[in-house]
Order: sequence, then C-alpha cells, then structure tokens
Amino acid sequence: METVKCEICGKELPESEAHYYEPGEYHVCPDCWENEFVTCERCGEHITYDEAHKGIHGYLCDCCYDDLFG
Ligand SMILES: [Zn+2]
Ligand SMILES: [Zn+2]
Repeated sequence: METVKCEICGKELPESEAHYYEPGEYHVCPDCWENEFVTCERCGEHITYDEAHKGIHGYLCDCCYDDLFG
C-alpha cells in the first residue's frame, strides 16, 4: 500500500486516507486536517485557521472576505 507522510505531524498514513492541501504536494492526515484547516464557505477553498476569517456561518478565505466585506 502507498503511504504518505502528514506534513504537519509527520505520521505515516495510507494515501487513500490523506487529504491534499495542494494536490500531489502536501498531504495531511485526517486529525491534522480537522485541527488545522477549514473550508471557505463561499468558494470551498481549503485554508488554515490562521488565514481564515469568520464568515456568516463558517469561515471565509481572504479573497471572499474582501469581496463580501472589503
Ligand atoms: Zn497529521
Ligand atoms: Zn473563498
């Protein structure tokens, strides 16, 4: 089985369970994915908590936040 390494915690996991932050580049295990990333409620882009803005229901990426509130 193909295994990949989580970029955040370094855990090895089956490729089929990994999330991709940037496809083919950046693998993240499901735990870290939950802890570190959110999905922009408008465009669906994956962003880190650091980059996320509080949206109406969830979170917004920089671009969408600017579009809506900028
Ligand atoms: Zn991890
Ligand atoms: Zn967005």
